[in-house]
Amino acid sequence: MTECPTVQTHSPIGPSSYQRVSLCPGSMRLSQNVAETQSDDAKRGSRLHALAADWLEDGVDAILGADQEDIDAVAFYVNHCHALMKQSIGSWVEYPVNLDHPSGLLFGTLDFACVDMDRLVIVDYKSGRKKVNAVNNTQLLYYALMMLRNLNTADMSIETISLQIAQGGEIDTWDISVADLEVFADQLNATVEAALAEDAPLIPGSVQCNYCPAISICPAYKARLEEESGLTMENVDAMIPPKTPALIEQRYAYVAKWRKYLDEVEKQAMALAKKGHKFENFDAVDRVGNRSWIDEKFVTGILEQAGWDRDGFDRKLKSPTQILSALDKATKKMAEKATVSKPTLALLELRSELEAQIERKVIGTKLVRKGDSENVTESED
Ligand code: SF4
Repeated sequence: MTECPTVQTHSPIGPSSYQRVSLCPGSMRLSQNVAETQSDDAKRGSRLHALAADWLEDGVDAILGADQEDIDAVAFYVNHCHALMKQSIGSWVEYPVNLDHPSGLLFGTLDFACVDMDRLVIVDYKSGRKKVNAVNNTQLLYYALMMLRNLNTADMSIETISLQIAQGGEIDTWDISVADLEVFADQLNATVEAALAEDAPLIPGSVQCNYCPAISICPAYKARLEEESGLTMENVDAMIPPKTPALIEQRYAYVAKWRKYLDEVEKQAMALAKKGHKFENFDAVDRVGNRSWIDEKFVTGILEQAGWDRDGFDRKLKSPTQILSALDKATKKMAEKATVSKPTLALLELRSELEAQIERKVIGTKLVRKGDSENVTESED
């Protein structure tokens, strides 16, 4: 493996954001003003990339103990790279690459690259379900250009660039010439120039806005959404739910877009709250979860001992709310029959013993209007 030439941070105009920035140059600056959030899919993607890199760099022993589903998800990619490595004269895994540019912003980390006699191969592993094609893939072209510029090609005669996407057990390949790559280099220069301009325009569109981190603060996205849907954020309080089928259909067409926009606004607000930001009209308070047993084994024991196991168990131990409510009903029934009885007292004792075994864990943070922070419980209780 070859030494890494650069120290990495996230580039606002690197290969993964290039397509968006090429379609909406203003998104480069705007996306730098939002807190970074990571979806569960993105977290899974990072985990799988790290696993594959460990496997490729340090062998199968490096992934002993890893989750079998994760291993299965990356195995085809690792096998493909191993096969390429066998016939190559150099290979690179999770390799930082860059382009010489005054902004210092043109860099990224490619998943895998290798060189054989006259061919540079770039492989990008995708863990998502949405199919990605290698043909005209600007992310791959960008990696290839950086790799070609970073390589010492004096002893090589690279003629072909093989761009490959490894996804869902398949390898999608698009081969181009070095001359084709230079055409992309010109496009890239124009995109970078447009994005760095002070008045870089915001140009909404379904492709570029789809994964844009700046949706929640983008005036152009919001304006287009309001114009197309006929709804505005500002008049949302006065908005009357649509009643006619035609209007419902017209509004329904924008539900997903509004939801995406509002979800992004919420994600950004939560990210700020986590960082300790003080909001003008909201306080950050703990979200408290449903009641749960502190020690299920112990509770099982005391329920069985008390002969109360018939109502304490479903397939698993019932929730505190369900058991306490069953106990209360039984106690009430007994009390109706006899004012004070030994079994009634036993049930009351059992109740207080169970209550001592109940806890409410803090499960997150939510924002509530100032003066309205006492209602913090999010549960079915
Ligand atoms: S949301 Fe769309 S229009 Fe706004 S910055 Fe992002 S890509 Fe551009």
